[in-house]
Amino acid sequence: MILTIAKSLLGDNVKILKSEASKKAYQGVLIAVAAIIIATFMVSYFNTGAVSLSGIMAAQKNNVALWVLDCIPFVFGFWGQYSSTMIAYQAGAMIFDQTQELRSKADSLEKKFDYDSTHDSLTDLPNRALFYDRVEQAIFLADAQNQLMSILLIEIENFKDVYDTLGRSSGDLVLKQISSRLKGVSQERDAIAKIDSNIFGFILTNIVNIAIGERLAQAIQQVMEPPFLISHLKVSVHPNIGIVNFPDHGDDVDTLVQRAGVALHMAQKSSKGYCIYEPAFDKYSPKRLTLISELRNAINRDQLELFYQAKVSIQTGKLLGAEALVRWNHLTQGTVSPDEFIPMAEHTRTIKQVTLWVLQRAFRNCADWHKQGLDIKVSVNLSSKDLHDPELPDLIAGVAASALIKPEWIMLEITEGSIMNDPESALEIINQLHGMGYQFLIDDFGTGYSSLGYLSKMPLTELKIDKSFVMDMMSNKNNALMVKTIINLAHNLGLQATAEGVESEEIMAKLKGYGCDMAQGYFLNKPLSVSDFTEWMGHFELQN
Ligand code: C2E
Ligand code: MG
Ligand code: MG
Repeated sequence: MILTIAKSLLGDNVKILKSEASKKAYQGVLIAVAAIIIATFMVSYFNTGAVSLSGIMAAQKNNVALWVLDCIPFVFGFWGQYSSTMIAYQAGAMIFDQTQELRSKADSLEKKFDYDSTHDSLTDLPNRALFYDRVEQAIFLADAQNQLMSILLIEIENFKDVYDTLGRSSGDLVLKQISSRLKGVSQERDAIAKIDSNIFGFILTNIVNIAIGERLAQAIQQVMEPPFLISHLKVSVHPNIGIVNFPDHGDDVDTLVQRAGVALHMAQKSSKGYCIYEPAFDKYSPKRLTLISELRNAINRDQLELFYQAKVSIQTGKLLGAEALVRWNHLTQGTVSPDEFIPMAEHTRTIKQVTLWVLQRAFRNCADWHKQGLDIKVSVNLSSKDLHDPELPDLIAGVAASALIKPEWIMLEITEGSIMNDPESALEIINQLHGMGYQFLIDDFGTGYSSLGYLSKMPLTELKIDKSFVMDMMSNKNNALMVKTIINLAHNLGLQATAEGVESEEIMAKLKGYGCDMAQGYFLNKPLSVSDFTEWMGHFELQN
């Protein structure tokens, strides 16, 4: 199809260039004919003393030089036609070549983008999204061919210690070496994926009996046993491995990966270091397992709800914004806290649906408040997984367009952990959204492991001090010092400081003394439903 279009384009180009070149050839013919007429008139005049018909005919009959001149228009005509055709074809072919080159460059860029969004940039292994796709395909094939399949989740238990002790670059080197040792265990390169900062996934297809999964787990333990040599230091890692089998333990991706997670959890406690899933394990986490499958339905059945908590300027007392905090109104268990279901959702793909739902609601609420003349900035919490989803900027742009909100009305809250996991890819998405006009703050600041280097690289507006430091800063001197230090750090980086967990007037006064910019906490208001919060804003505006 593309070739046919290219051929017809080439044909059109040739026609245009050929007609241009032919025009020049016709002009040449006309000049040559004019030259013949003038030369014939001159010969007739020199021979007879006048320009007469008999003189012209005699000149044409007897003058050899005029015969040569008479041939010139034919030479011009033929040469003009020939060369115009050649030039036109050469030029057309050049355009065609360049178009092909551009097209192949665009193709390879597109391929690189596809590759980057499905692979871990550090280890070059398939990432979480691709792993889920591959498991889905493997289930489909195993089901169609009546075969068995196993999934192994391998967690490097002490990776955080390695990372904290040796630093980021050495930690990355360990991860690279772990991934090459894992590649050595598998014959199929595509079977391995890096699905979290310290978790790898393994798909074992075409197996004849389920004991093979266990043998692979032992082989992985063996290859991980020799210490890794990093800057003359010997570093040992401790892998835990959870195993599930298809079809025995589930017939869809989410259930299988979830149950592999449960087996992994049990492996941490076992002396063997690996564990095959058993339904009996569910009794250790029954609520968790049922909640995960119910959460997907809860989103579709609108059982989630957004609550809002105010953010107030400490220096002026003015209401500046509100943070959207999601709640799950569970039919039998009452309100489930986000601290309980968000980490769970992050272990499955459900987090993407939760984030989308929250964005849609929060943007719509924000648009409504602005329509009512309330100029407030709505904060939305993003999960660590969201920042590694290349589709996030488009998703947010789409939601914003349909809610008719401006990016400057929104603040996106991210945590230190979500960036440090894979800083480069997170930074790319953050920069893209910042370019679209969205602002970012770091939430729960002080509890994670931010590198100051990355902090200064990020397009941030604000640091939000974790409530664990703020809540008891009146009685705990260390925490008070921590709060003061973070406020100074924020100001030195050109950012604003917000304190969350402000529960009393005394804390508010102390924060004012420290020069803190904004406060959020039960002293101002507890998170409220949309209608209660709208009413609360009305009273608050009247009082201030
Ligand atoms: P966060 O973003 O740091 O939100 C602040 C949490 O502190 C909220 O808990 C809030 O209710 C609570 N809080 C605020 N002021 C006070 C106070 O004065 N004292 C005390 N003791 N607590 C206070 P919540 O609503 O349970 O949310 C917990 C966490 O769940 C949030 O922490 C956030 O990390 C996550 N979360 C909430 N909604 C979402 C969401 O829509 N998406 C994502 N990805 N995460 C969310
Ligand atoms: Mg928050
Ligand atoms: Mg927080």
